[in-house]
Amino acid sequence: MINMGECIFCKIINKEQSADIIYEDNVFVVFKDINPSAPTHLLLVPKKHISSVNDLKPEDKKMIGDLFLLAKKIAAQQGISDGYKLVFNVGKKGGQIVDHIHLHLIGGWK
Ligand code: AMP
Ligand code: ZN
Repeated sequence: MINMGECIFCKIINKEQSADIIYEDNVFVVFKDINPSAPTHLLLVPKKHISSVNDLKPEDKKMIGDLFLLAKKIAAQQGISDGYKLVFNVGKKGGQIVDHIHLHLIGGWK
């Protein structure tokens, strides 16, 4: 596991690194992906440092449920409810680059 002090998403959460944050509450932060792969590409990030889906524990169950409800809400706010993708990349082979769990919200195609 990496040191949280070096985690880019922890730095964004702690405001030590800038990001285009569009939503924040006590549990989550949502910001624009710096390298978007679609017209709308947001990252929904739990503030708790969990490395990946593989590191989720039973105690994270409610938080993960809330994450999907937040995704639905943000998709509606962004006006993309008619079609979007929600993606967790898991592990290097699964395309995960940042070792802090995050849900990609991707859409906005015409
Ligand atoms: P993943 O491949 O699932 O780990 O996704 C990591 C995502 O984070 C990629 O789509 C990157 O473009 C994005 N990303 C990396 N650094 C930043 C940053 N500082 N601000 C916003 N997005 C970032
Ligand atoms: Zn982190």
